[in-house]
Amino acid sequence: MSDKNFETEAIRNQMKRSQFQEHSTPLYLTSSFVFEDAEEMRAAFSEENERNIYSRFSNPNMTEFTDKVVQMEGAEAGYAFATGMAAVFSTFAALLSSGDHIVSARSVFGSTHTLFTKYFPKWHIETSYFDINNPEEIEPLITPSTKILYAESPTNPGVDIIDLELLGNIAKKYNLLLVIDNCFATPYIQQPIKFGADLVIHSATKLMDGQGRVLGGVVVGKSELVREIYLFSRNTGPALSPFNAWVLSKSLETLAVRVEKHCENALKVAEFLESHEKIEKVKYPFLVSHPQYEIAKKQMKLGGNIIAVEVKGGLEAGRDFLNALKMCSLSANLGDTRTIVTHPASTTHSKLSSEEQLAAGITPGLVRISVGLEHVADIIQDINEALMG
Ligand SMILES: *Cc1c(COP(=O)(O)O)cnc(C)c1O
Repeated sequence: MSDKNFETEAIRNQMKRSQFQEHSTPLYLTSSFVFEDAEEMRAAFSEENERNIYSRFSNPNMTEFTDKVVQMEGAEAGYAFATGMAAVFSTFAALLSSGDHIVSARSVFGSTHTLFTKYFPKWHIETSYFDINNPEEIEPLITPSTKILYAESPTNPGVDIIDLELLGNIAKKYNLLLVIDNCFATPYIQQPIKFGADLVIHSATKLMDGQGRVLGGVVVGKSELVREIYLFSRNTGPALSPFNAWVLSKSLETLAVRVEKHCENALKVAEFLESHEKIEKVKYPFLVSHPQYEIAKKQMKLGGNIIAVEVKGGLEAGRDFLNALKMCSLSANLGDTRTIVTHPASTTHSKLSSEEQLAAGITPGLVRISVGLEHVADIIQDINEALMG
């Protein structure tokens, strides 16, 4: 472990220079790596992950990116994937067997929910759900087959917060693996391993890239678990491409300053919306009105860049608001430099039934705002003009 601060590590934690003495990391666009002789090749295949063999297994750019995330999260090891969903799927697939059971928060990313409901049951892996606002529901769901306790905090799209320390204690008591999707917080804001998480997953597509350009995913945590996930991935092929790894590693150099500004803007937008006559409800972790404000303050350094709002007038008013925006983008992504507004019920979470949507806190009029890095006055102006119609 280094004694340097987060920002310094993000910039200075870099792979060894080549013979060209480049200052910033080169891109290793190579599918495979060569060996001096048969003995060196044999050794590389027997030691596993000791050196680069083939870019489906590892690549220098992928390793640099992963090492940074490992450092940022205070983890032992990590592995990087082509997308966040590849990271989520590979984690479960590598660690679970037929007959195993998952206990998960009900409000999780839409595709993760689809894994639980549509695909895992095909392999006799069942999932039970708890309401993130009622953590006392968790313990009664645990059975002798339960292997993984899973949650996101803050959640997508409702920005609910769960007490990570509480989850860590439950996981310890029942000997479960605690897996946290830390995508909305980033390791700059929150480090779940401190609270007892065994594995932390990220969609690097979001704030880690931060500019809406590349997709990526990463899992970090305990070495022996990461090793299983690595071996699964090495054989099934969801590895992160060298180019995307290179972009992501570069993006992490500015994660701290970007996230600071995202959160500063988001808090101002949230405060503005809270007093707006056309808004029914605003949820943002660092607003005192957030139901889990105290927990958010305990485990998060900043409130994140996502705001959930309910426009007065429900579905129709929400749609009118989206249609009236002139600058903010309508897009499914989040954590971009550009402010993005989404209507989860008809897009990202449309595969859930309306009962499932409501149970996950997705009301018909819910609008998710991913606050970007434009000048906050311009963001507020666009939102205000769209609300006033
Ligand atoms: C986007 C997202 C994912 C999936 O990531 P992709 O990179 O789009 O595959 C998983 N979890 C959360 C919370 C997300 O926001």
